[in-house]
Order: sequence, then structure tokens, then C-alpha cells
Amino acid sequence: VKKNPHSYYQIFNRTMHIHAISLLQLKNDLRLALARQEFELHYQPIVSLTTKRINGFEALVRWRHPVRGLISPQEFIPLAEEMGLIIFLGLWVLKEACLQMRAWQLKFPELANWKMSVNISGKQLAHDNFVGQVKRILQETEITPNNLKLEITESCLIEDPQSTITILQELKTLGVEFSLDDFGTGYSSLSYLHMFPFTTLKIDRSFVNSMEASSEKLGIIRAIVTLASNLGMDVISEGIETINQLAQLKVLKCQYGQGYFFSKPLDSKAIETLITTELAT
Ligand code: C2E
Ligand code: CA
Ligand code: CA
Ligand code: CA
Repeated sequence: VKKNPHSYYQIFNRTMHIHAISLLQLKNDLRLALARQEFELHYQPIVSLTTKRINGFEALVRWRHPVRGLISPQEFIPLAEEMGLIIFLGLWVLKEACLQMRAWQLKFPELANWKMSVNISGKQLAHDNFVGQVKRILQETEITPNNLKLEITESCLIEDPQSTITILQELKTLGVEFSLDDFGTGYSSLSYLHMFPFTTLKIDRSFVNSMEASSEKLGIIRAIVTLASNLGMDVISEGIETINQLAQLKVLKCQYGQGYFFSKPLDSKAIETLITTELAT
């Protein structure tokens, strides 16, 4: 094999071929996954950095593939977007998260003011009847709109700012709140940020996990907190893993956080145990 100058390319092509087949297979499986009920939601607590108490969750979707096991959303959300499946998957996620929130509130009345945060893809937001779909899910699940928060990334803002503003304003009148997700990683212009009805800026994990090593990143976080405060918004830091990161974020007056330091995303049963402990202390 060594002496054949073409063997490298043969192996390379073979690998590419396998890759193409498995991607095709994955897409086929993805098309069937909703009907086969292979998706599930995990929930990560969002915590007040001053009191360390939970005041909400972020719902994060997982795909339990019968052969490949648990697949990360980073792998299949882009595929679902490309295939147009994100509309149906997104509706399932939203409804499931609202149903779960309602169920927890019936069990634990103390959760009356907690928020359930749900990630919304730009494709979903741009879909014809997004507002109508959210309204219907709110009615069907009987969740109070104030308990729902939608996380929207910066890329949605640039694609069609005017129609995004209209959609968000309409949902805001119902009581739904919005977070600007992954803030600092996209291209949103500070000059029009105030036109969107966000109540929260979420600082991306990439800033938090480099803040100890990089004074520039720390400076960016400080600037984001100041900006948010001037615009009357609060700040959630993603990806807090160490007590030192927590301490620094508190000095910078960041109000909320989530990350492995507090809890990984957990399935609903594990979250119930966590809520029970939280309410007992
Ligand atoms: P995201 O919205 O930025 O979510 C935060 C991600 O950081 C989650 O990854 C979470 O598990 C992870 N994370 C949280 N704390 C820590 C930490 O302390 N350390 C580390 N290393 N990671 C932490 P996950 O669950 O894999 O989700 C990845 C991305 O997939 C999300 O990023 C979001 O953009 C997307 N996604 C997840 N669920 C949905 C969904 O239902 N709909 C849509 N459209 N996108 C979703
Ligand atoms: Ca998010
Ligand atoms: Ca994101
Ligand atoms: Ca992020």
C-alpha cells in the first residue's frame, strides 16, 4: 500500500464517502425523530449571583438517537435549520418547555415568578405565523406569558430588524420577555439595540471562560454590564465554571448566571430534586 501513490487519495475518498453516507443517514433519521419521540429537553438553572438562588431555567434540546446515543444540539440544530425541520422541532420544544413549566408550577407554587427560557432560531422567528403559534401554545399549556422568555441571537436582528421588532413588540404586549443570546459574538449594532424590547443580555460563554486570562475579555464583560444597565436590561453570564469567575462577575455587578459551577443541564426528574432542595433551604 505504501508504494502506491494513489492510496492516500483512495483512503481519503473512502472516508469522505462514509462521511457523506452517515450525514445522509443522519438527515433521514432526523426527519423521523419527531414522530419517533426521540427529542427530549434538559434544563439548566439560571441563578441570581448575589443570592445564589434559582429563578428560572434554560430549556436545551437533546436528540436521543437509537444507535448513536445522545446527540448535541450543536450537531443537529444546524441540520434541522437547513432542512426546514426547525419550524416543527422549535414548536415541539416551545410547547414541551411550557408544559413542563406549568407542571412544576402546579407542584411547586413558589415557582410563580420563575422564568422558562427557550431558544428560538432565526428561521422560526421569520416563519409566517410565529406570533400566532406562540399565542396558541400559551393558551394550550395555560402558562402565564410572564413565565416565558425567548432567547434570540444577534443574527436574527440583522437579517430583518424591522419585522423582528414588530414580532417581538406584539409578543411583549402579551407579557412574554426576551433575552439577546450569545451577546458579543455577533454583529449587532449598538446603535439599534435599544429599539428591540430585550430585558436581558446574555454574555456568551467564550467571554466568561477567557476572562481570567484576558484583561480585554474582562473589559468587554464590564462594558456589556454597563451598557445593559444604561439600557435598563439585566445580564446573564453563560458558562460559569469556577468560583473565581463567579467572584469576578459579582464584582462587575452581573446579576445572573448559569454554568457547571451551579449545575449542568439536567433532565426534568433531576431538576425536580434540585427544586425540592432549593425550596427546603
Ligand atoms: P446556547 O444557547 O449558548 O446554550 C448554552 C450552551 O452552553 C448549552 O450547550 C449548555 O449546555 C452549555 N453550557 C452551559 N453551562 C456551561 C458550562 O459551565 N460549561 C460549558 N462548557 N458549557 C456550558 P448545548 O445544550 O449543547 O446547546 C448548544 C447550543 O444549541 C445552544 O447554545 C443553542 O444555541 C442551541 N440550542 C439548544 N437547544 C436549542 C433549541 O431548543 N432550539 C434552538 N433553536 N437552539 C437550541
Ligand atoms: Ca441560549
Ligand atoms: Ca446560542
Ligand atoms: Ca452561548
